[in-house]
Amino acid sequence: MVNAGAPAARAGAPAGNEGQEDLRGFLARVEAAGRLRRLASAELEAVPRLMREAEKAGMTLVVERVVGSGAGHVSNLLVTPNHLAMAYGTDEPISREMVVSEYIRRTAAPIAPVVVDEGPVQEVVVPGDEIDVGSFPLLKHSPKDIGRYITAGMVITKDPETGIRNVSINRMQLKGPRKLGIRMMPPQHLGLIYQKAEKLGRPLEVAVAVGNHPLELIAATTSVELGVDEFGLAGALRGEPLQLVRCRTIDLEVPAHAEVVIEGKVRPGEREAEGPFGDFMQYYVPVMDNHVFHVRAVTHRRNPLFAAIKAGSVEDTHLLASSREAAIYRAARATGSEVVVVHLAPTILNCAISIRKRHEVEPKLVLEAVFASYPWLKYCVIVDHDVDVFDLADVWWAMATRSTPGRGTLHLDAPGFPRDPYNLHQSKLGIDATAPLGRWEEFERTGVGQ
Ligand code: MN
Repeated sequence: MVNAGAPAARAGAPAGNEGQEDLRGFLARVEAAGRLRRLASAELEAVPRLMREAEKAGMTLVVERVVGSGAGHVSNLLVTPNHLAMAYGTDEPISREMVVSEYIRRTAAPIAPVVVDEGPVQEVVVPGDEIDVGSFPLLKHSPKDIGRYITAGMVITKDPETGIRNVSINRMQLKGPRKLGIRMMPPQHLGLIYQKAEKLGRPLEVAVAVGNHPLELIAATTSVELGVDEFGLAGALRGEPLQLVRCRTIDLEVPAHAEVVIEGKVRPGEREAEGPFGDFMQYYVPVMDNHVFHVRAVTHRRNPLFAAIKAGSVEDTHLLASSREAAIYRAARATGSEVVVVHLAPTILNCAISIRKRHEVEPKLVLEAVFASYPWLKYCVIVDHDVDVFDLADVWWAMATRSTPGRGTLHLDAPGFPRDPYNLHQSKLGIDATAPLGRWEEFERTGVGQ
């Protein structure tokens, strides 16, 4: 592990970057926009609190040196809708309202990644006998978590039958210097791929990349079909092929500009207890029989920044929401309605959609379409275009002043979020909070709350 006492992650492209924006380039733009909080050092135990404080302030957090670790910390990359817009606006700025349509426009066709000879992620190759994953600032995020976790790791594998790559983000529990717990359960692609390897009696090679550009994280959290390489989606989001380098000990390729890569294998037939862990709905998932990742190699940049995502945080919601908002937007548009903005929050179970209403029936048609397009959706509110769907207070204002409970609402008995022992997610409610057509002058806002 290198000495991380020197300032880490200063702005600017490191050698070999060749125009491809990396995490550090994104951070430089966020900092230039005044949306980054940079601390010289902090104790490991203080970082979760610092993350929450930065989130409340709408700031990305960089801790250049986490005391006692060989790396810095970065989090809250996508802490506001404006940060999300900054991730897309690599060439020229876009507005937060444009993120979903920009996502749809860019993902029309994948752009395959390219393998390059070398990349900054392999600047430092940790000698085998010095590997200790715990020397990175893995965090205990929630008080009852069983231990420290990697939460922003892009898990890269290849389907043993097709050879096609899969990329996803999965939590990993620190269990020893070279041992991590990982959950690989179907119907998630990673679980399906592991099942294939296990049936063949073969270990599954796995690489974990930490410290990635947010567009890669968005690609990794998008639901695509099994057999579609998420790095092709990452290239599409970037508008250029993602640069990869070959791993040192396994037959996989990883982003050349990541901060840290952990290489290893998951053996067939091996399970161990993992959890509890505070998950995306802000509840703990219980202890489960999950898989075990054995570390073979660690490479990293000089002065690496180790990224973390708090499950259930605003950033986590933004990541999980991107592809789902796109699906909702498409479905809502397909009704013929002029959809302005779609926003899933808080959590990815609730949605507010603004439209330019031309017919009274539109809100109901949009509600029916979006509930059918995204089964996890539980509450959905349709508002007029003068309501800021990114501001929950504004959405509530529209509900208070423009909706009639019982009229214009859509109640459906249909299953939602699947892990539901209390039957809390077996019905849905849609609310029309749009002003009556033809009465716009009477519903014109005074501008007080805007
Ligand atoms: Mn996949």
